[in-house]
Amino acid sequence: MNVHVDIPSIKPLIGDKLANWLATPRPMLIDGKWTPAQSGKTFAVYDPATGEKIADVAEGDAADIELAVRAARKAFESGPWPSMTPSQRGRLIHKLGDLVLEHADELATLEAIDNGKPKHVARAADVTLSADMFHYMSGWPTKIEGKTIPISALAAPGNQFFSATRPEPVGVVGQIIPWNFPLLMAAWKLGPALATGCTIVLKVAEETPLSALRLGELILEAGIPPGVVNIVTGFGETAGAALAAHPDVDKIAFTGSTEVGRLIVKAAAGNLKKVSLELGGKSPNIILADADLDLAIQGATAAVFFNHGQCCNAGSRLFVHRSIFDRVVEGIAAEAAKIKLGHGLDSATDMGPLVSQVQYDRVTNLLASGHNEGARAVCGGTGVGGKGYFVRPTIFTNTNPSMRVVSEEIFGPVLVASPFDEVNCALVAEANNSIYGLAAGIWSNNTAKAQALANRLRAGTVWVNCYHVFDAALPFGGYKQSGWGREMGQAVLSNYLETKAITTRLPV
Ligand code: ADP
Repeated sequence: MNVHVDIPSIKPLIGDKLANWLATPRPMLIDGKWTPAQSGKTFAVYDPATGEKIADVAEGDAADIELAVRAARKAFESGPWPSMTPSQRGRLIHKLGDLVLEHADELATLEAIDNGKPKHVARAADVTLSADMFHYMSGWPTKIEGKTIPISALAAPGNQFFSATRPEPVGVVGQIIPWNFPLLMAAWKLGPALATGCTIVLKVAEETPLSALRLGELILEAGIPPGVVNIVTGFGETAGAALAAHPDVDKIAFTGSTEVGRLIVKAAAGNLKKVSLELGGKSPNIILADADLDLAIQGATAAVFFNHGQCCNAGSRLFVHRSIFDRVVEGIAAEAAKIKLGHGLDSATDMGPLVSQVQYDRVTNLLASGHNEGARAVCGGTGVGGKGYFVRPTIFTNTNPSMRVVSEEIFGPVLVASPFDEVNCALVAEANNSIYGLAAGIWSNNTAKAQALANRLRAGTVWVNCYHVFDAALPFGGYKQSGWGREMGQAVLSNYLETKAITTRLPV
């Protein structure tokens, strides 16, 4: 495996415009204006490939959340947003999607230096899917419909009623997002909230605030009115916690760790705000004996190593039929050996660093636990060391369900692989043996068999002969402790809507 990590000096690679943008502390978007933190504080943002500072951003806290919530409330109750037609709202959201595409290169560059992912991947995946999300959601405002309902209510003889439901926006929405897909997570959250007519306070991850701040500029350029989207940069324990607990926020939508998800639920209890959660995973990926081996090997490699394993839906628990186990593990190890680690701005890079020192320490500690508990590292098994937070793609075999590497979400490029003998209840039980239930993969040439197995897996998404296939139209979310509610598709709209039933007595 190529672990040589060339760290370019980023300045000449990002262009003058972006370099100038990064040179001044980036303020927050509150009520349509770029606003420094009330405290005057800023915090540094680092390139995870070098550990070097790339920018300063405002350090928002409870006082800034207060201003942002007030702005969102004002924009929800009055101003142009609530009086716009659905068609007008849809056009603004569509325009935002267009602007994301127009600025694709710049946004992908920001993802590369802030999150560490390869720029070409950010361009093809993160930016494209973000634009798709806005374009898909731009069609919904004109199609969110209620129903007429025939009722049998007791009434004086001769009385008749007309009853109908009217979906309405839930109100002021707090949204808290993680660092693994900074722009895309913002798009997944903002798209449906805008489509339903809500107003928003978005708290971005402290590790990766830059692309969302640039998106904020595009939001204003698209003509989305002041206060409809407010973007606060700051830390989870201060800004995030204040947003989750705020009494004038009607709903909180969170993507992140299951541990913080629990804190969000507690914080939301004060005013019983609506909650949706997209949390962790430890997804099983099952290769049956009759699978197309080349496809399955490529697919299983991408399932776990895409985005450096920093995907809540990573296919991190591999189950392979015993007859092909060695070939598959060797095949994935051979693919892992080809992965070139490097800086996200280097076009030859396949895999960048983990996002932060904290994540590097977490993942390498889990790797150490794997070694200590007796797992065998077929490849990788350690961090690279030196500059940046690079970790070698790792495959562990000889594992058992009690090992931490098998039961815990690692959020790094680490696969645990074990053989099975038959597609039976024991395999299904083992695949479902997790507190999580986000995603699963099945590889087989017998699609009926794969379908039957898919039905038995407790997961919000099952991919057959593919993995990581996301689409703005497809609902995504988790069973069990992987979350509440769904992102994307028509399904996500219900997270942001209230249903009002209106009954009118008709004149006799
Ligand atoms: P990860 O472990 O992947 O960093 P987290 O769940 O810690 O993910 O973070 C996801 C998001 O949640 C980030 O925006 C972070 O700032 C925020 N966050 C962290 N702790 C809290 C908290 N106590 N209350 C609200 N938000 C939080």
